Amino acid sequence: MNNNILERVNFLKDEINKHNYLYYVEDNPSISDYDYDMMFKELQKLEAEHPELKTPDSPTQRVGSVSEKFFPHVHKYRLYSLDNTYNYEDLTIWYNKITEEYGKDVELVCELKIDGLAIALTYEQGLFTMGVTRGDGVTGENITPNLKTIKAIPLKLFEDINVEVRGEIYMPKTSFEKLNEENLEKGEKLFANPRNAAAGSIRQLDSTITAKRDLSIFVYSSIFENMPSAPKTHYDGLMYLKKLGFKVNPNIRLCKNVQEAIAYCQEWENKRFELNYATDGVVIKVNNLAIQEELGFTARAPKWATAFKFPPEEAITTVENIEYGVGKTGAITPVAILTPVLLAGSTVARASLHNFDEIRRLDLRIGDKVVIKKAAEIIPKVIKVVEREPNSRRRRFTPPTECPTCHSPLQSPEGEVNLYCLNPKCPSLIKAKIEFWVSKDAMDIDKIGPAIIEQLYDKNLISSAVDLYRLTIDDLMKLDLVKEKSASNMYNSIQKSKNNPLKRLLTALIIRNVGKETSEILANEYGTIERLKEATVEELAAVNGIGEKIAKEIYAFFHDEDNLKMLEDLKTLGVEPPPVEMPKSDTFKGKTFVLTGTLPSMTREEASEIIKAHGGKTASSVSKNTSFVLAGENAGSKLDKAKNLGVIILTEEEFLGMIK
Ligand code: NAD
Repeated sequence: MNNNILERVNFLKDEINKHNYLYYVEDNPSISDYDYDMMFKELQKLEAEHPELKTPDSPTQRVGSVSEKFFPHVHKYRLYSLDNTYNYEDLTIWYNKITEEYGKDVELVCELKIDGLAIALTYEQGLFTMGVTRGDGVTGENITPNLKTIKAIPLKLFEDINVEVRGEIYMPKTSFEKLNEENLEKGEKLFANPRNAAAGSIRQLDSTITAKRDLSIFVYSSIFENMPSAPKTHYDGLMYLKKLGFKVNPNIRLCKNVQEAIAYCQEWENKRFELNYATDGVVIKVNNLAIQEELGFTARAPKWATAFKFPPEEAITTVENIEYGVGKTGAITPVAILTPVLLAGSTVARASLHNFDEIRRLDLRIGDKVVIKKAAEIIPKVIKVVEREPNSRRRRFTPPTECPTCHSPLQSPEGEVNLYCLNPKCPSLIKAKIEFWVSKDAMDIDKIGPAIIEQLYDKNLISSAVDLYRLTIDDLMKLDLVKEKSASNMYNSIQKSKNNPLKRLLTALIIRNVGKETSEILANEYGTIERLKEATVEELAAVNGIGEKIAKEIYAFFHDEDNLKMLEDLKTLGVEPPPVEMPKSDTFKGKTFVLTGTLPSMTREEASEIIKAHGGKTASSVSKNTSFVLAGENAGSKLDKAKNLGVIILTEEEFLGMIK
């Protein structure tokens, strides 16, 4: 056998043991669960290929760890871990192996895998007598006094029976965030995730500390002693636990086969974010307890259950550097350069740090280990520091004083946390402005992206967004790897944007504090650039949705010589949005309509157009702010709500009568 393999196996064993200690004993992991699972799987694979390397002390042969801080307790019935997979093929292979032996359509129970701490609770004659952590599966930590502080754990059951119940202690996400905020203020340790917070809170030597933490439990299995009438299926067992007074997760599902189980996993992959507790996957169990018993266990996990793990939404990695970007307004945006790590299915090497206040709040320093998270945003964010770089005192972060690109001094307008590069010739600022110009929210020039802009700028083909409209197909063919077809596609995409609606052009101009919505308000109110140029600050400030501060910014923009020259150039080059149709009347000004049911002579869209053309607005739901409900045939609950709230209800005839 190759020496390299032996070395790798020993390395993996040492690494996994080290991380087990940090995770199970210290409640302070320093790598993500996904990275841990990948090392674990690699070790399992090498041991399967080279069985002579599989020693009884290998982490693959064991479950968890026990801390010496607590009284050890040897479990009456062993507790196990779970095998896991991140893909549906493995899940199907696992199921097919079972059906080969027990016939097709073996029933399964799907449960959310609660990301907390496993616990075994003993009840004698219906009374709670002892609670022990899973520990290494054979021996756990007796933490009965701490468990008694959790209100969701019944001290007395509804029946006087002897039973051992297993479940997962967890901390709600909101309580976890609150605890970390408090700890940050007090300068105490931050927990990496709700699981570690739950484990750290329940494994306290002083139960008054545990009592102050918001902890709860979901129970998921039981062992009944000397009870002939005990449930025969896992699902019935869960229902019985509920009847005894335990908290059972409401999202359990009985599935006929693996396809139904996969559908459950797919459903919860996104729905899990709506829950106030962390789940890292789905546990899939054979329902029939007699089959469970026959299938039995491996050294560390049952063969009758497996966990499907969701792609990680959070990861732990190291900040290698902090770099600065220049945004479209000149704002300097700090970016964390990370040791690449897998997150929600892709490798991530950069994360947003938002602004300099955020870096101070996190007290982030280069070399720190951090938790990064991908939520709704595409760019992940740094959430918190989990491990400080030991020499961090020397490397405290100081904000830059000059632009990273053009080196002009940065400025910070009063009352703003951002620093700005205000040099109009700064290449990064120019490129950021052009990138925004072509973006979906602005002129939506879909064939031109950041890489093309970079090349166009570097080859001196453009030095502003206006220059895009001066480009010829030949110019575009000067770009690397660009042939006639794609040059002509780019050219057409630019030309098409010339007649974009006014609201898009106004957004693309990057007027301070004027985003998409304000641009739309301005476009609807003024209709053309020419009219906007003539507006006074007072007139602008009087427009609904635009305050005095923004009015001044808009006025300043349209009275700046450079901006006027740019607008003139755009016009000469043919960038001229069609004038916005102005309202025919003010009849519905300030009025909000809700439409419901089928109208006799027009569609709801046509009715909306009429409302807008007469200065009104539409909304999708009825509230006390609704002025009118325009109702047709088969109107639904909106009509009932309008009646309850006393909102005026109009027929189509009455509606048309108002604008005659
Ligand atoms: P596990 O957490 O992957 O799965 C087993 C556990 O799931 C059970 O013990 C039980 O506590 C829990 N569980 C939650 N809901 C359940 C339900 N409905 N039914 C049954 N069980 C349910 O296994 P583990 O042995 O506790 O821990 C191993 C995992 O912990 C690894 O796969 C890894 O993700 C993580 N880990 C991470 C590090 C790290 O450094 N990041 C270190 C060690 C372990």
